[in-house]
Amino acid sequence: MKISNILKQVNKSISFEFFPPKNSQAENQLFNTIRELESLNPTFVSVTYGAGGSTRDRTRNIVKKIHEKTNLTVMAHLTCIGHTKEEILEILTDYKKIGIENILALRGDIPADIKDFEIPKDSCKFAVELIQLIKENFGNHFCIATAAYPEGHPESPNLERDIFFFKKKVEAGAEFAITQMFFDNRFFYDFLEKVSKEGIDIPIIPGIMPITNFKQIRKFALMCGATIPEELVKRLEAVENKPEEVKKVGIEYATKQCIDLLEHGVKGLHFYTLNKSDATIQIYENIKHLL
Ligand SMILES: Cc1cc2nc3c(=O)[nH]c(=O)nc-3n(C[C@H](O)[C@H](O)[C@H](O)COP(=O)(O)OP(=O)(O)OC[C@H]3O[C@@H](n4cnc5c(N)ncnc54)[C@H](O)[C@@H]3O)c2cc1C
Repeated sequence: MKISNILKQVNKSISFEFFPPKNSQAENQLFNTIRELESLNPTFVSVTYGAGGSTRDRTRNIVKKIHEKTNLTVMAHLTCIGHTKEEILEILTDYKKIGIENILALRGDIPADIKDFEIPKDSCKFAVELIQLIKENFGNHFCIATAAYPEGHPESPNLERDIFFFKKKVEAGAEFAITQMFFDNRFFYDFLEKVSKEGIDIPIIPGIMPITNFKQIRKFALMCGATIPEELVKRLEAVENKPEEVKKVGIEYATKQCIDLLEHGVKGLHFYTLNKSDATIQIYENIKHLL
């Protein structure tokens, strides 16, 4: 089913993001996580796509397996920067054939670990071109989602410029958006106000990253330009060498963040699970009375 239609029916949406596992052992672990999270009755789950197309087959195989072996609605992430348009059409034709109806259309980034990575001449250079390509070739078969950046995309000179291009993606056919992680809800509320002034009215679902490993999330946050508030940094630094304490702080913080978002009337919450269920389940238990 198309996620845009489900979003119209549900009061609050809960969704989970996974990445494609590297080997069969990791795949078994992921399916345990999926089974645990399935019991929370999420609106949808999504599977990421490796930078530059590096997980093309693995993403496709996990998406297919979730679609066939669970009752979950699954959305495939797809990045365009490393593919020719012909390859993109092949991937989408295959998704259509196996019954997938939801695509998160992204530009992606040049993979940092591949030396001399070449962007194919005939590729979509920005996500908006990918959305246009999908619409031109598949009409309304796919529900298309897009990425949004409450603090602005790191390459963008300012938030206004980024919102200008965000609007282009919506005009091209994106039906809902998921945000980059953020840790200060004020960025999200300001962003909502600004996009609303631009006449953008698609659902924008905040992406929530529970911090369970401070070193790793600090690196991610730096890369994607997400600010970690000083007060949270201090609390995490104080327990940096005690993984269980870090997790406790991370869960408590994400719980407060989610409660505040729900009280401000958000349509849903999208959790970056990093293929683990425990932190997300604990946060869910803390907020379920508001869902
Ligand atoms: C929810 C979410 C999920 C993600 N999943 C993945 C994933 O699975 N795999 C992965 O590799 N990455 C993923 N990313 C990261 C994403 O690929 C990067 O942030 C990437 O740098 C931008 O992708 P985009 O689709 O937002 O690009 P775009 O919307 O194309 O924007 C990229 C930059 O270009 C600017 N821009 C847009 N259009 C134009 C134009 N016409 N002219 C000039 N400038 C323009 C924008 O302002 C922005 O600065 C995800 C991000 C989010 C928020």
